[in-house]
Amino acid sequence: MAYFLTGGTGFLGRNLITRLLKREGEIYVLCHDQIARDALTAYQEEHNVPEGRLTVIQGNLTEECLGLTESDIATLRGKISHFFHLAAIYDLKATAEIQEAVNIAGTQNAVDAAAALEAGCLHHISSIASAGLYEGHFREDMFEEAEHLEHPYFSTKHLSEKVVREKCTVPFRIYRPGMVVGDSKTGIADRVDGPYYFFKLIQRIREVLPAWVPTIGLEGGFLNIVPVDYVTDALDHIAHKDGLDSNCFHLTDPKPYRSGEVLNIFAEAGHAPRMAVRFDTKLFSFIPNQVRNAILSLPTVKQIADVTLKDLGIPSSALQFFSYPTEFDCRETQKALKGSGIECPRLTSYAPAIWDYWERTLDPQISGDRSLNARIKDKIILITGASSGIGQATAYKLAENNAELILVARDEEKLANTKLEVEKRGGIAHTYQCDLSNIEDIEKLSAEVLENHGKVDILINNAGRSIRRSIANSIDRFHDFQRTMQLNYFGALKLTLNLLPSMEENGGGHVINISSIGVLTNAPRFSAYVASKAALDAFTRCAASEYSDVNVNFTTINMPLVKTPMIAPTKIYQSVPTLTPDEAADMVATAIIDKPKRIATNLGIFGQLVHALFPKLAEIIMNSSFRMFPDSKESEQGKEARSKEKASSAELIALSALLKGVHL
Ligand code: NAP
Repeated sequence: MAYFLTGGTGFLGRNLITRLLKREGEIYVLCHDQIARDALTAYQEEHNVPEGRLTVIQGNLTEECLGLTESDIATLRGKISHFFHLAAIYDLKATAEIQEAVNIAGTQNAVDAAAALEAGCLHHISSIASAGLYEGHFREDMFEEAEHLEHPYFSTKHLSEKVVREKCTVPFRIYRPGMVVGDSKTGIADRVDGPYYFFKLIQRIREVLPAWVPTIGLEGGFLNIVPVDYVTDALDHIAHKDGLDSNCFHLTDPKPYRSGEVLNIFAEAGHAPRMAVRFDTKLFSFIPNQVRNAILSLPTVKQIADVTLKDLGIPSSALQFFSYPTEFDCRETQKALKGSGIECPRLTSYAPAIWDYWERTLDPQISGDRSLNARIKDKIILITGASSGIGQATAYKLAENNAELILVARDEEKLANTKLEVEKRGGIAHTYQCDLSNIEDIEKLSAEVLENHGKVDILINNAGRSIRRSIANSIDRFHDFQRTMQLNYFGALKLTLNLLPSMEENGGGHVINISSIGVLTNAPRFSAYVASKAALDAFTRCAASEYSDVNVNFTTINMPLVKTPMIAPTKIYQSVPTLTPDEAADMVATAIIDKPKRIATNLGIFGQLVHALFPKLAEIIMNSSFRMFPDSKESEQGKEARSKEKASSAELIALSALLKGVHL
């Protein structure tokens, strides 16, 4: 007895080989290139496969009779009891031509090879895709009934099955696995498709909302998800059972979940918020198809859809799975597996393993060179306020990644010290002294920078001033409002306006504004400061709409409290939890790598959500903190204080711990 496999180096193939190795007999694996041969060698080494059990056969799916040589055919003829045809293209994004050549013509070549080798049985691994988008229950004895086969993924899987049914001259069996995910115990998988496409979306929601906040989502059809270990255990068992030739087996979950439930199961596995309310996608079916298609083909709608899907790594064709109309009956499979102990585990029991493996290993964000180093290579980065606090920590972090930096602040000596440290850490630094609350100074700075360096790729508007003073204490201090606006808004705005044209000319750029969590939580005592930051946030949102198509990105970081000289005058902040400047610099580094529209802590986002949903509640919470926390001594000058500065009490510390990082 011997086995022959096409697609033996693939995900299902390798898992099947592991099962076949537990049986007697040599295993021959068709390999078409060095990559496949290396993959097989790696597998042999990893699994300590004894010499002679696993043999590479040179060939190619797209060649006649798989490109097998006369001598290979002569050696293997009559020896192969089981010929497993697993090779296929499962990529929704692959072109129709490639899918046709590999899936349909490749299956014809496999059928011919099985005949030439006089194989005992051809096991054709088809897919539930061969049913097309059939509406209703699809049984294992159904084939011709398949419908909506327009997408090449469906049509080529259907037609390759047809080749086996009509042209195979040796006994055959057909298997239709559902959407295969990783191993139910280890989560191990080597490709990202099916439900994995939605993991990024779940992760994004988790990044902005605490796990206990309920969300709203969609509900659709049943998604038939199966773990690879179930599929290959079942395949191995049924292939070796007598009397089942010419049958088809659905290797599917007998009790699948609807798409919305699937998202919730994975959301729970990923500690993300669950969708408490799910609207059935059928609700939208009242919109006539023509109207829907017309809306979807509007250039703006298309652009939004394309950008959003690209951002989340979801191929647009994957969306149709959300409203998958087919349910798969698998009674024949269950009958064949009876007594074997092999059964499909519930998704709820193994979703955590699948999620964990994806997040640790497969998440596209951790593969590829997404390092800070790669993102800033050959870029010129201008940091304002680089002589202290967050700006300085950011300069050091970037220097460790060999950045070329333009450091801007007023104090020459501090700038010189920062430059020295930047160079020590491996960066290049150019310093420019500039008072960013002075528009003429900014004009001079911009002109010099563009003249000397030709461009600025990344502008980090970080220099700022903060004033913590209640409005009651500011009645006769209009200049507080003017000064914060002058630096935090007009200074950053002027520099941005001066550099934007050159960014556009150079084919792109990135503006990162260090804003405040106070804008999201409407912090009392920070009206002047928060208003100036809010102005910059608002400008940035508008600018992003204008520059979206010319590759100039804008990121707003709603920074929580950071222990820097800026917050030093407020004594209460000495005993409240804050970020370190290095942690703040990490947020800036994330902004550079991911270019998101906004970075904020969960608490900041939650604050904004509470303000939007329950504005009165938010007001009461912030008012209580306003009453509990004192004005700092410096801010009381010239006005009778409404509250006196006291040593930080346990109550204050408890409240500040609860509102970690929020300006109080
Ligand atoms: P910091 O340690 O006080 O540093 C402020 C920097 O801005 C210094 O380098 C300072 O340098 C520069 N600067 C101030 N006025 C300037 C002017 N007129 N022209 C040029 N440069 C000027 O403050 P930080 O905590 O790092 O704050 C940095 C940014 O983060 C600010 O925009 C702040 O609003 C924001 N932020 C801070 C916190 C926090 O808790 N620390 C929280 C949220 C947001 P020179 O004095 O030499 O000019």
